[in-house]
Amino acid sequence: MTRVEARIEKLKTAAYTIPTDGPEADGTFAWDATTLVLVKAFAGGREGLGFTYADASIAGLIAATLARAVEGLDVFDPSRAWGAMQRAVRNLGREGLASTAISAVDAALWDLKARLLDLPLATLLGRIRDSVPIYGSGGFTTYSDDKMRAQLENWVGRDGCRSVKIKIGSDPGLDPHRVEVARRAAGDAALFVDANGAFSAREALRMAQAIGELDVRWFEEPVSSDNLEGLALIRASAPGGMDIAAGEYGYTLDYFERMLSAQAVDCQQADLTRCGGVTGFLRVAILCETHHIDLSGHCGPAMHLHAACAAPRLRHLEWFHDHARIEAMLFEGAPVPCAGQIAPDLSRPGHGLEFKSADAAKFLVEER
Ligand SMILES: [Mg+2]
Repeated sequence: MTRVEARIEKLKTAAYTIPTDGPEADGTFAWDATTLVLVKAFAGGREGLGFTYADASIAGLIAATLARAVEGLDVFDPSRAWGAMQRAVRNLGREGLASTAISAVDAALWDLKARLLDLPLATLLGRIRDSVPIYGSGGFTTYSDDKMRAQLENWVGRDGCRSVKIKIGSDPGLDPHRVEVARRAAGDAALFVDANGAFSAREALRMAQAIGELDVRWFEEPVSSDNLEGLALIRASAPGGMDIAAGEYGYTLDYFERMLSAQAVDCQQADLTRCGGVTGFLRVAILCETHHIDLSGHCGPAMHLHAACAAPRLRHLEWFHDHARIEAMLFEGAPVPCAGQIAPDLSRPGHGLEFKSADAAKFLVEER
């Protein structure tokens, strides 16, 4: 293959705020809309696409600071561009919004490189697996029992998911009842719960005992994910067969190293759209391998899919209701579950996603 010479020419970005299909809440937050920030990167007559779920305000950071950092660099070296972006935000703080912005740009640059080489991104990265298991995730605390039951039954029956997850923690008195309803609806599939850090360590231990009797296999963020001692304590005391998970708010490799070293989780979570894009996510995966702990991708399944195929110890991806709905609505080529898995379409270059600009126009809130 002849190597194409190309430099990163420019970045464009736009933010879209999409209303949810009903009121949604978990143990510590409620929302009625989700904002997707899209990045387009241009080189050699091609366009790469990346996105994150964040705040529309990062469009300014992407269009000015990050664009300045990466424009003119060799498009075939996305990891070098990643380093340049990390340096560019040093004085702003690398975590939080800056890292979501870097994640979207990094994903666009990896997509662009793959498209220029006319390769599926998973092939460029090097596949360890052909497809990735997903678990259905929703079961918001705003849902009636009937609505939650129907959602879980669809994931298990229609999509073939082998595990499903609901939110708990906004009304602890009601949680055992909701978990029982979910347990019955899940049938043969494993049941996961996510408290989003709603409980104190003592409350979480009591909840772990109560829901352990209902065969809950995964207790996510039983306490704040910043409480590493609390997570480790609950992990040591939870009923056998119940995994403790956390990590969705990790933005830097140091964060994941601290969580893994504290032996705080049975399965490490990481969000590619927050932790530094494809470059950051694959580094977290290597860290998990050295700690002998599995990795689970948090939300944004269409953006995770190709990197997930190349990530060691990848257990599954979260098929989050909001994001799966938005990605199917706004991207041609968004993955469709089959037998509880999603797989990259290897007939398309890059990550295979094309943005449906016309369909998205009504949600546009910012454009640079
Ligand atoms: Mg969570």
